[in-house]
Amino acid sequence: MAQHQFQTEVSRLLHLIIHSLYSNREIFLRELVSNASDALDKLKYLTVADDAYKTISFDPRIDISFHKETDNPQVSTLTISDNGIGMNEADLIESLGTIARSGTRAFLEKLTTDAKKDSNLIGQFGVGFYSAFMVADRIEVISRKAGEDAAWKWTSDGKDSFDIESAQRDAQGTTVILYLNEDGQEYANRWSVENIIKRYSNHVAFPIYLTYDEKEYDDKGKEKGSKTKTDRINSGTALWRRAKSELKEEDYHEFYKQLGHDTEPPLFYIHTKAEGTLEYSTLFYIPQKAPFDMYNMDYKPGVKLYVKRVFITDDDKELMPTWLRFVRGVIDSEDLPLNVSREILQQNKILLNIKNASVKKLLGEFKTLADIAASGSEDAKKKWETFIGQFNRPLKEGLYQDFANREALQELVRFKSTQAEGWTSFADYVSRMKEDQKYIYYITGGDEKTLRASPLLEAYTAKGIEVLIMDDEIDDIIIPTLYSYRKETPGADGKSEARTWDLKAVNRSGADEELGEKKDKQAEKEIKPVIEKIKKALGDRVKDVKLSRRLHDSPSCIVADENDPSIQMAQMLKAMGQTEMPDIKPILEINGDHPIVVHLKNTEDEDRIADVAGVLFDQALLVEGAKLKDPADFVKRLNRLLAK
Ligand code: ADP
Repeated sequence: MAQHQFQTEVSRLLHLIIHSLYSNREIFLRELVSNASDALDKLKYLTVADDAYKTISFDPRIDISFHKETDNPQVSTLTISDNGIGMNEADLIESLGTIARSGTRAFLEKLTTDAKKDSNLIGQFGVGFYSAFMVADRIEVISRKAGEDAAWKWTSDGKDSFDIESAQRDAQGTTVILYLNEDGQEYANRWSVENIIKRYSNHVAFPIYLTYDEKEYDDKGKEKGSKTKTDRINSGTALWRRAKSELKEEDYHEFYKQLGHDTEPPLFYIHTKAEGTLEYSTLFYIPQKAPFDMYNMDYKPGVKLYVKRVFITDDDKELMPTWLRFVRGVIDSEDLPLNVSREILQQNKILLNIKNASVKKLLGEFKTLADIAASGSEDAKKKWETFIGQFNRPLKEGLYQDFANREALQELVRFKSTQAEGWTSFADYVSRMKEDQKYIYYITGGDEKTLRASPLLEAYTAKGIEVLIMDDEIDDIIIPTLYSYRKETPGADGKSEARTWDLKAVNRSGADEELGEKKDKQAEKEIKPVIEKIKKALGDRVKDVKLSRRLHDSPSCIVADENDPSIQMAQMLKAMGQTEMPDIKPILEINGDHPIVVHLKNTEDEDRIADVAGVLFDQALLVEGAKLKDPADFVKRLNRLLAK
């Protein structure tokens, strides 16, 4: 037996791993299984690529078992064994005694003397084999290299040195035996091994078997001994790593049901494999129904991160932008270290690139679906309608949050309209609009029915100008932040041309400028006394009273000043607990041709003017869906007028 000293860095690394990863120590099993899987990959490659290995009969597998010593049940061992490439004496010294790996070396070079900084650093690099010393006092590695006859045993307590002696092994491969320490005892247990493997290593490509003893009972339920059983415990599908041509629709659907815990098949899926500077696979699913917790603050993210088929996390809200939180799926990177920590993930360039490319890919696919649907395909149309019905709102959130993708998102969001049934896009709107129309008009606040009935729409409808009906509460917050819609159209000469249209809310002062009717000086002059009477009667309930250019049938309407929040927005902010809101006063617009208004010209009875003005104001609020401050007062005034 020969004793060897660990390289000094190895001792340091061991110490650091044990102390910084301790709370997450179950990952040791993931690391050992990944090593076994790599060893199988290497041998698999050689049996195909190298004639010298062609004769090896290769039935790749990973075996896990545990034993409790019968006379001392406090001591248990956990064994992980593979029939992969194996290691000879020199390999064992090189691989398990020195820091040969470039990643670890780089890691050690960055080490400081500050223990806390160092533990943060560890997340950037693989920790590998040594992590097993978190749960074991002693580790034995018995290995035989493929194509060689001798086997070797490496033993260490993970402190300063390791021993190597000659050993026996029937065939090529590696057996790692952990003599579990006190904290490691919990892993000598069928359920905990199975759980950890299912969580982290379920998609490892080779079969993983667990051998355990199961108690047997006689007819009377009395224990009559036990039987050794071996079960396969990983599914090994890693569907996302397989070629698209090998996979059928059912395969994708089956996998989705497991992944998304959904009983329905997905609406559609997007499978991508990237090769080049970055190597990764992604498989994304769009559910038929929005996840039930989509609008909870503590929603569960739907995309899981894998590194080389090994599960890393399903709880990282940064993997996808928040507005894409309805997407279910997998990102699997070849380039990240297994042990990548949460803090590192968030600043990781590789992951950021994968994320950006994935968002672009998803946006592209959504747009393609919309285009095919618009071209008349019934199937695509059904899919698109379901998609937009469920996810229009998160897409709108994207408009607000994701500046880099705003242009793409503007092409996806949909609204209702005064001129078309179903959904209308900004592009549809501008394609229908008249040559000389300058703005895109919309109305917000209230449900669809209230909005469609709003007197504010009268003049637009009469002039044939389309208005987008924005009845989703979120529209009130998001649309005003957009300001404009920009569209690029390919010009005849190949250069693309961009045009921009400003968005205008019809329930704002200033949105009536395009309605064509020039300010009528005479009418303005005639109505002035009436306006004065109403202003006096309403006092500080209004910001202003004006002659309207947008009313046809209704006597009055309410608009917000161009720079104030709308009435609905103000109500929402209040409901959300914003107490510091200044009391926002609306502008009352009156229809100079309406008999009620005309009637005011000829009356000087102050009580009567007060009643008429009050009713004009309150009814305009009512049709806007706003709540009256004093409904009893409104009813009283109305009754007095009716009685006359
Ligand atoms: P990593 O796997 O990140 O390289 P480890 O510390 O886990 O780091 O392992 C160091 C090296 O030991 C591996 O690169 C590999 O060459 C060798 N090794 C570990 N486990 C096995 C195994 N089961 N079979 C063959 N070689 C192994």
